[in-house]
Amino acid sequence: MKITIAIDGPAGAGKSTVAKILADKLGLLYIDTGAMYRAATWLALQEHINLEDGESLAEALCHKDLRLESPEESAGGRIRVFLNDHEITDAIRGKEVSDRVSTVAAQKMVRKVLVEQQRKLARGRSAVLDGRDIGTVVLPDADLKIFLTASAEERARRRVKDLEGLGEKESYDDVLRAIIERDKQDSTRQEAPLVKAADAVEVDTDGLTIEEVVNKIADLCKNGKGGRKDQ
Ligand code: C5P
Repeated sequence: MKITIAIDGPAGAGKSTVAKILADKLGLLYIDTGAMYRAATWLALQEHINLEDGESLAEALCHKDLRLESPEESAGGRIRVFLNDHEITDAIRGKEVSDRVSTVAAQKMVRKVLVEQQRKLARGRSAVLDGRDIGTVVLPDADLKIFLTASAEERARRRVKDLEGLGEKESYDDVLRAIIERDKQDSTRQEAPLVKAADAVEVDTDGLTIEEVVNKIADLCKNGKGGRKDQ
């Protein structure tokens, strides 16, 4: 039986970590759509394309092969990202890309190209997708929709830790400010803003371990609590 799970929410709520573990646990494909917007941002920086020139960037993207290597194929850890076989897994997680990705993600043409690719990747398959607009735009018919949240402070603490892992040092205050700014940009943009789908289940991850969050979503999945009208 085919099942699709949409996990949306603000930056740093733990979507990617939770989605990947959940996908492994349930044997589903994991599609990290944030990584795709990050890859588009990396490409714009690399090719000196104006971040607000959505048309040129969309065109450039169409000529590249953007590939996500699913976790079971990689040696564990986070999903690997390639542009024309050039690995950019770490490069897309750094500050340079993180600070600019919301500008790129606000471009209509970029979204058009990437949403199409996301639907194609998920077509006919059982998958977990995480992002900002999965339950509202990419897969409005997803079987289970989760809106994952956490306080901005908790998300900033997690991000500082992530950056440390990448060898980048940033103060908590700066990270908190950047997270609040990214939330604002993602929630107020015209194209597919970050909003909770009417039929999504909100899961607040403050004070919960990753395992607890994964189990909560797996239970919702098992019990068919997707909130869909037909369930
Ligand atoms: O999930 P992650 O933080 O890696 O996403 C990076 C950025 O990509 C987000 O801040 C948002 O601007 C954009 N994004 C989006 N739609 C998605 C996934 C990510 O606009 N489905």
